[in-house]
Amino acid sequence: MPAAADIPKPALKRRKPNPWVRRFKSPIHNNGLFAAGTIPEGPRVIEYVGEKITKKESYRRAVERIDLAQRTGGAAVFIFELNSKYDVDGSVRWNAARMINHSCGPNCETRVVKGHIWIVALREIEPGEELSYDYGYDIEHWKEHPCRCGRPDCAGYIVRHDQRKKLKRLLKKQKKQSRAK
Ligand SMILES: [Zn+2]
Repeated sequence: MPAAADIPKPALKRRKPNPWVRRFKSPIHNNGLFAAGTIPEGPRVIEYVGEKITKKESYRRAVERIDLAQRTGGAAVFIFELNSKYDVDGSVRWNAARMINHSCGPNCETRVVKGHIWIVALREIEPGEELSYDYGYDIEHWKEHPCRCGRPDCAGYIVRHDQRKKLKRLLKKQKKQSRAK
């Protein structure tokens, strides 16, 4: 018989508080996650956890949420690409990483390591600094996702980094058209 201490405890859905981060009201949007102390460059700060779903289910949920966003002004979709077969729906209460906001100049990025999605620090983050990463939204739905990251180089909308030049041209064109009216 193994001693009681050797018997593994059942895995709990509620996770231990993460020592790297604290949750506070964010100047960007709702609640955000902030560095509890200095976070060095490189570590896996927090895992983006959630429900593992198929691409088909993922598409269904995304469409539903984009529709809701259009009606209510909420922007979050919370679905993350895991691999070619599955996505992760992070809109669950026990996923603290869902509170991390988008920024056009983020201090973190997401990395998929062995089937897990991690938020990784891109540089040293000072205590109290808000954590952010690039949500990487496609330009197709840019209008539904205005950005309030407050950076001087903010693109105005949450659009993935390599499409921001395209967005700039689009916004310029729109401005011209509205002036011509
Ligand atoms: Zn921005």
